[in-house]
Amino acid sequence: MENVIILGAGIAGYTAAIYTARANLKPILIGGPEVGGQLTLTMEVENFPGFPNGVQGPELMQMMRKQAEKFGTQFIEGVAKRFDAKGDHYEIQVGEQVLQAQTVIVATGASAKWLEVPSEQQYKGRGVSTCATCDGFFYRGKEVIVVGGGDSACEESLFLTKFATKVTLVHRRDQLRASKIMQDRVFKNEKIKVLWDHVVEEVLGDGKHVTGAKFKHVKTGQVTEMKTDGIFSAIGHVPNTKIFEGKLELDEKGYLKTDRFMHTNLPGVFGAGDVQDIKYRQAVTAAGTGCQSAMEAEKYLENLEN
Ligand code: NAP
Repeated sequence: MENVIILGAGIAGYTAAIYTARANLKPILIGGPEVGGQLTLTMEVENFPGFPNGVQGPELMQMMRKQAEKFGTQFIEGVAKRFDAKGDHYEIQVGEQVLQAQTVIVATGASAKWLEVPSEQQYKGRGVSTCATCDGFFYRGKEVIVVGGGDSACEESLFLTKFATKVTLVHRRDQLRASKIMQDRVFKNEKIKVLWDHVVEEVLGDGKHVTGAKFKHVKTGQVTEMKTDGIFSAIGHVPNTKIFEGKLELDEKGYLKTDRFMHTNLPGVFGAGDVQDIKYRQAVTAAGTGCQSAMEAEKYLENLEN
């Protein structure tokens, strides 16, 4: 019987591992399908406190993993495919291995939705991005496209105008779903042009970097091409909660419900990071909730003993 199993090797999971390992709980961390989490999808992280010269996302994650392992975290490569409550403990299956634990920290993150068009994956991190806050800085003096019609797409477009000379917001319908205030800001900003009723059909590049995109008009079917240096998709996120459906309380979009102390509806099961964050989704907030969940798990185990 393990003290604590942490699911997810993103910033929340690693932080929870560092804290529980330092508390001598010998945590098991199950990496999941995207080891390193969303930070591995970005280049330089400039807003993580303590790095005045910035730090590469993947490098930060490697350092966190080292720090977690240094204090005794056991890392298991693999994807948790089953989670079950078993009376006074929990059972998690990874491949053929079945693990049992008294507490579980769910830090499985949320994955940005991709456009799923040809060449998109090839240019990931080389012109194709899902995070303007992370990568916007690299588009100073350049032209970019943002795909989506919600608050995220508006927010990302507005943020990118700080760097880019032109932002084209591409939306598949003829009206945005974003809040009125965000729409107003977008329409007032002279650097943003909206391309209505269009979807991206293909990412174009020179083998090294994005050079443009191919679009289709959804009503006429007409296909056009546009030069661009970057394509940001802001079409939503999907929380990674499939194995918890019907077992842990989720909101209508599938996010894990936690209270302000990171407790889920089951005793001894905590949530941290983007899997339960519908608002901030920052590296530092994920680290913060990772820490909170670890401290709550520690306290829960202490109470079991007494
Ligand atoms: P969202 O509201 O779900 O919007 C996603 C947008 O992407 C929609 O416009 C949708 O088009 C479009 N889309 C989805 N799949 C697509 C595809 N395959 N190809 C092309 N377009 C696609 O997601 P979000 O903007 O990330 O916002 C999520 C939540 O966070 C919302 O509740 C939002 O209000 C909130 N949020 C708030 C703020 C803020 O207040 N500042 C900032 C960010 C997010 P359709 O419109 O046609 O469905």
